[in-house]
Amino acid sequence: MTSAATVLITGASTGIGATYAQRFAQRGHDLVLVARDQGRLDALAQRLRQAHQVSVDVLPADLTQAADLAAVEARLRDDARIGILINNAGIAQSGGIGQQTADSIERLIALNTTAPTRLAAAVAPRLAQAGAGAIVNLGSVVGLAPEFGMSVYGATKAYMLFLSQGMNVELGAKGVYVQAVLPAGTRTEIWERAGIDINSLPELMDVEELVDAALVGFDRRELVTIPPLRAAERWTALDGARQALLGDLHQAYAAERYRQPG
Ligand code: NAP
Repeated sequence: MTSAATVLITGASTGIGATYAQRFAQRGHDLVLVARDQGRLDALAQRLRQAHQVSVDVLPADLTQAADLAAVEARLRDDARIGILINNAGIAQSGGIGQQTADSIERLIALNTTAPTRLAAAVAPRLAQAGAGAIVNLGSVVGLAPEFGMSVYGATKAYMLFLSQGMNVELGAKGVYVQAVLPAGTRTEIWERAGIDINSLPELMDVEELVDAALVGFDRRELVTIPPLRAAERWTALDGARQALLGDLHQAYAAERYRQPG
């Protein structure tokens, strides 16, 4: 299914999502493009149809709105041509947890975690049934770095990594490929949208370089792809340490250091 599968991409109107759209169109995949800005989606769809002779549908949706999210879920459930989901739409936020409003926290969590989880859950049974297909989740290295001081955003991205690892356990054996992509700072609109001056940041990766690297990982069927990480063995060591920790848990008794004296 995957070779000619239709690809549904969220957050496809610009940035990483629009670049994924261009690259998959170039590979000959039909597309379903999801974001709020219909004008930008239509313009991109038109360009990709002309350049690559693929079919491109536009599905405008605000993924923080229940009815719109339900419509995208329904499309994923019902459209048997869709074999790849790119869970990319996301926002960042400036300021620490004390400076963010309840509404902005709610919106960030809804878009960065609730929506991609529900979309993955909508498509997973059909892909598992077919024994093929792929789900790509955009995390971030911020999800590995509480030190960066972006606690809520980072937590949503740590969630995406865990979700991917868990879904891989559940779906991998059924023939569904799951990939977590963890970019570092990449030159897109995300910074400006979050009220962060892009000129205040250290060097950023170009979006084409990021997506092309992510697709190398995709083609290799890597579970976790971290394009800016130079030494791959650091990730392997971190994951190995996590598994060793699990092996050292003894459920029935508290560890010696937590025993009350006497
Ligand atoms: P971007 O340039 O700001 O694009 C975000 C996309 O999400 C846009 O297409 C936007 O389209 C869409 N979107 C925003 N709010 C939405 C909503 N409520 N409903 C539906 N779509 C919505 O961001 P990007 O840098 O490409 O980021 C893409 C993903 O990569 C995000 O998950 C982000 O967290 C992750 N990431 C980015 C970086 C980076 O440095 N750029 C680093 C690590 C991870 P509309 O405005 O048209 O809706």
